[in-house]
Amino acid sequence: MTRTDTIVAAATPPGRGGIGIVRLSGPKVPEIAAVMLSELPRPRQVTFARFLDASREPIDAGLALFFPAPASYTGEHVLELHGHGGPLVIEALVTRVLELGARRAQAGEFTQRAFLNDKLDLAQAEAIADLIDAGSREAVRAAMRSLQGEFSAMVRGLTEAVIDLRTYVEAAIDFPEEEIDFLADRELLERFQAVREHLKGVLESARQGRLLHDGMTVVIAGRPNAGKSSLLNRLAGYDAAIVTPIPGTTRDVVRERIAIDGMPLHVLDTAGLRHAGDPVEEEGMRRARAEIERADRVLFVIDAAEDPSAAAWREERARLPADVPVTLVLNKCDIAGSLEKSPAAIFQTVASLPGAKGAALAPCAEPPRLHVSALTGAGIEVLRGHLKGCMGFQTVEGGAISARLRHLESLARARGHVEEAERQLTERRAGELVAEELRAAQTALNEITGEFTSDDLLGRIFAGFCIGK
Ligand code: GDP
Repeated sequence: MTRTDTIVAAATPPGRGGIGIVRLSGPKVPEIAAVMLSELPRPRQVTFARFLDASREPIDAGLALFFPAPASYTGEHVLELHGHGGPLVIEALVTRVLELGARRAQAGEFTQRAFLNDKLDLAQAEAIADLIDAGSREAVRAAMRSLQGEFSAMVRGLTEAVIDLRTYVEAAIDFPEEEIDFLADRELLERFQAVREHLKGVLESARQGRLLHDGMTVVIAGRPNAGKSSLLNRLAGYDAAIVTPIPGTTRDVVRERIAIDGMPLHVLDTAGLRHAGDPVEEEGMRRARAEIERADRVLFVIDAAEDPSAAAWREERARLPADVPVTLVLNKCDIAGSLEKSPAAIFQTVASLPGAKGAALAPCAEPPRLHVSALTGAGIEVLRGHLKGCMGFQTVEGGAISARLRHLESLARARGHVEEAERQLTERRAGELVAEELRAAQTALNEITGEFTSDDLLGRIFAGFCIGK
């Protein structure tokens, strides 16, 4: 695969449609256009043309658009043929272009060329795929923000702060007689703190963005018979888990992927968290705890008829990981009568939820409480709204950006290096090591926008695109 090849693919999805578009990119475009269309269309002007086969018979007639390099999507010569959207027409056009010396494009290859020709950075290229795959209006908006470079600008700002810090430390190393003073400087510690805060802010935005992209993993946990399976079924809108009045029915983890207004939500119904002698049930509990460790939020379900003071939660909270946010769901309000407090009480609780930026992941001392009935459906809409709020729907200041797990991992690595740099500074005053850690943090950040990226990673990223993009 070389960038000097000319590539071709249908840019519109397979199937029948009013219009079907074939797109070409590469050095041979002018030559191919001259043969297929009799002449090269004028740059950036819509030209009506007949698209000819080898015997100069028209395969189709339609609009041709020529974008000479470098002012095109890929940065190369690009030609678009807008013909009729029949699969055979499109395939005949592609075949003719192949005869004239192009080859079929691989998934994402147009965008990969745009990236390699500096038309966009890697985070923006990924945002294009996210935009195409977006499952909700919010995900569309977030992908657009990333595509327009908002996320890249955040990461670049952060990278510059790290570079500044590194320059400061390296200057100290260059004047060894003053190094100790330099490194003991209060200003340096303040700068470290500023970088840490900055990193935290970008990480929070990226976490929210990842939730919009990948969905949120919600674990439904609680005592046996609290109504966890019933709640899952309510949220899913169909019977996903087995519901019985016998405690301990759910022995393994049930996984469901449901959508709330297009927002993906992974729900795990876990084995009841209780002390049981049965080895199968013990294994179920072990798995439940492992799932909770990885969750974006825990819905801790309480049987409000049996346990109106939520004693189960107080007993269990110490065993739950501290950094996974929890919502208490007081279930069976149909028999516990707690809906008398609603709807005002419920809305008040929801309004006071930590809804702002990063809220979905911020640990919270006293978790928000919602009253529902999985049986009658009361309060379920409020719960859905709450989950949407936790994912950054309408709550992220200035709007969410779209981000991926890859970005989060790079940010987390950068944070690790910055923390280590600070430790080297405060504990050992080791200037060289501080600078080295900061360099590593910078490299981790650069991976997000693609300044330093292995071919292997690029291959994996673009393989996730559709053909023709
Ligand atoms: P799990 O063990 O926590 O998964 O609980 P289940 O979902 O299996 O429910 C246990 C029992 O409580 C079943 O008999 C359900 O029908 C009942 N139940 C669940 N939710 C409600 C509710 O909101 N109101 C009432 N009255 N009963 C419920």
